[in-house]
Amino acid sequence: MKDTDVIVLEEPRLSLGDQFYLPQVLIGLGTTLRHMFDVVVRDKHKVIQYPEEKREDLPVERGGMALRTYRGVHRLNKDEEGRVKCVACFMCSTACPAHCIHIEAGESPWADREKYPVKFDLDELRCIYCGMCEEACPCDAIELTHEYDIIGLTRQEMIFDKSKLLQVFDETVEKEPM
Ligand code: SF4
Ligand code: SF4
Repeated sequence: MKDTDVIVLEEPRLSLGDQFYLPQVLIGLGTTLRHMFDVVVRDKHKVIQYPEEKREDLPVERGGMALRTYRGVHRLNKDEEGRVKCVACFMCSTACPAHCIHIEAGESPWADREKYPVKFDLDELRCIYCGMCEEACPCDAIELTHEYDIIGLTRQEMIFDKSKLLQVFDETVEKEPM
């Protein structure tokens, strides 16, 4: 390694105020008091009694535009003929940082594509809901919905297979069109 490849970082010098940490503590206390005022005086409660109450104000719209900003459980989309849109290209599983997508490709029974997913498993417990799979997909086959209240009593139940992911599509397509 050459000397020019080495970058020496200087430790930043703290100002006198920084060394006391008091301004930062007071700023933090101010934030806490502001939230307390909102809850106690302005009655702006942020706590909901889940699961009896559901959150309806998910961040889906901003500036009048419907933006998909909340990322919940996945679905596999279907095309107009009701077939799975996925062409088993493996882009999503390659992009997935949590390695939670497992695909087995097979020869497509349809003339308009070469492959389709014989198996498509997604581990919803391992997923970090980053949305990279959705971004990577070249044919909008995988999407993250706004559904967040999914439960399973075993780990196995939380590994969504192809039929379950297609079922999520059927259940959500009306309120969340592609
Ligand atoms: S949301 Fe992120 S972690 Fe989850 S399956 Fe997609 S790419 Fe993987
Ligand atoms: S869901 Fe999309 S990115 Fe993933 S294998 Fe299917 S077509 Fe490719």
